[in-house]
Amino acid sequence: MDYLPIFANVRNRLCVVIGGGEIGKRKAGVLLEAGANVRVVAPEIDPALSALSNVESIISRFEAQHLDGAMLVIAATNDRAVNIEVSKLAKARNIPVNVVDDPEYCSFIMPAIMDRSPLMVAFSSGGATPVLTRMMRSKFESLIPYNYKLLATFAEDNRELVKTRVTNPPKRRIFWEKALEGELAEKVLSGDVAGGQAMLEQMFVEEDNVLHGEVYLVGAGPGDPDLLTFKALRLMQKADVVVYDYLVSQPIVDMTRRDAERIFVGKKRNDHTMRQEEINELLVRLAKAGKRVVRLKGGDPFIFGRGGEEIETLAAEGIPFQVVPGITAASGVASYAGIPLTHRDYAQSCMFVTGHLKDGTMNLDWDALARPKQTVVVYMGLHGLDILCRELVNHGMPDNTPIAIVQQGTTPNQRVITGTLATLPAIAEREKPQAPTLIIVGGVVTLRDKLAWFHPKPV
Ligand code: SAH
Repeated sequence: MDYLPIFANVRNRLCVVIGGGEIGKRKAGVLLEAGANVRVVAPEIDPALSALSNVESIISRFEAQHLDGAMLVIAATNDRAVNIEVSKLAKARNIPVNVVDDPEYCSFIMPAIMDRSPLMVAFSSGGATPVLTRMMRSKFESLIPYNYKLLATFAEDNRELVKTRVTNPPKRRIFWEKALEGELAEKVLSGDVAGGQAMLEQMFVEEDNVLHGEVYLVGAGPGDPDLLTFKALRLMQKADVVVYDYLVSQPIVDMTRRDAERIFVGKKRNDHTMRQEEINELLVRLAKAGKRVVRLKGGDPFIFGRGGEEIETLAAEGIPFQVVPGITAASGVASYAGIPLTHRDYAQSCMFVTGHLKDGTMNLDWDALARPKQTVVVYMGLHGLDILCRELVNHGMPDNTPIAIVQQGTTPNQRVITGTLATLPAIAEREKPQAPTLIIVGGVVTLRDKLAWFHPKPV
């Protein structure tokens, strides 16, 4: 972030605009809308502007004393030397200053705004691309109905009332979300504020029935945030607490609500920050405290994700939950690596197995895996790669069968290492792929070369 966005309260405070041309007039207008007292300084000032109440006109060239008593100042003359002078003097006196179109001399910049007061949205690129900023604003303008003003005013007017009627903060947040998303919002947006008020009263009555929080078990996909589902994103933005582990990439964690509590529960091979039982208990405890909890899991929660165990505990405790499927590593990684998991000529079936080692062995049905015309995807298999390749050959798979290791698929660190059952263990030893890695075995791996130019690029 290059700038800290803040909203300034200028009501009844003195703001100074140096310059009386079109831009100066526009800036004075915005300040007046926000309730400021505006002093305009220029050799010539449009009488229509001077006539407005709350405007003090000083018909003069700029002098230092014009800044006296200012809470902030905007330099908008067409003489750069004057603007720079204003900026220097203001900065020396710690008065925030904006020089129009001259970021170097600004201590604050003015964003493009979407005004649905009391709801305000500010857009800025820090001067980098004003055109894109304005385009973004018009997109939002068309997305957020003008009547949001009504809804925002309704929320403002009822803020204290709701505070006294729903005293628990997490519950109050849920209450407000229900109110502002549902039928009540429709009523207010259509102009029926009294109808909305009646529904609010009704919601107070129902509120006593909503006693505890809930848990969303959300599949976050293999790494690229663009592979999140809409539902995942919606719930991530709703949750009060986010519980995540190392498979969830940082850009995805950053997409959760800013003020949500974030709890890292680790779980790397041989490095279990929190045991599974403790995670299950943590989810129960948070939900019972009235929190909405997102349990973010890499890929899909029900594919080697122990999601089943987590919801078993929740169900036993009577806690409401939802499971949101995600793109599992096999499908995400395969498509970003250019390896179709099935193909008419190479594979009619596809198996997902875990290569997790237990007591130094892999407990798999090797005969079933070694069948021809089948793709085998191995999760958590890197440490058992030798065993995997050896056993597949021992059970009848040709030793020139293609095999790939994909490191950190769909992320900017994606790397694909290919070989055959005979050669890959030595190649991997040399290349040292970094976790997480996925192994794909079968003829489909050769298609990668044909499709190489066509792979989606991780962002
Ligand atoms: N529930 C997850 C899998 C959890 S098991 C899912 O559906 O994808 C963890 C294993 O998933 C890792 O050891 C690795 O084999 C695989 N994996 C997850 N994300 C991956 C990625 N971005 N690239 C490669 N493999 C990945």
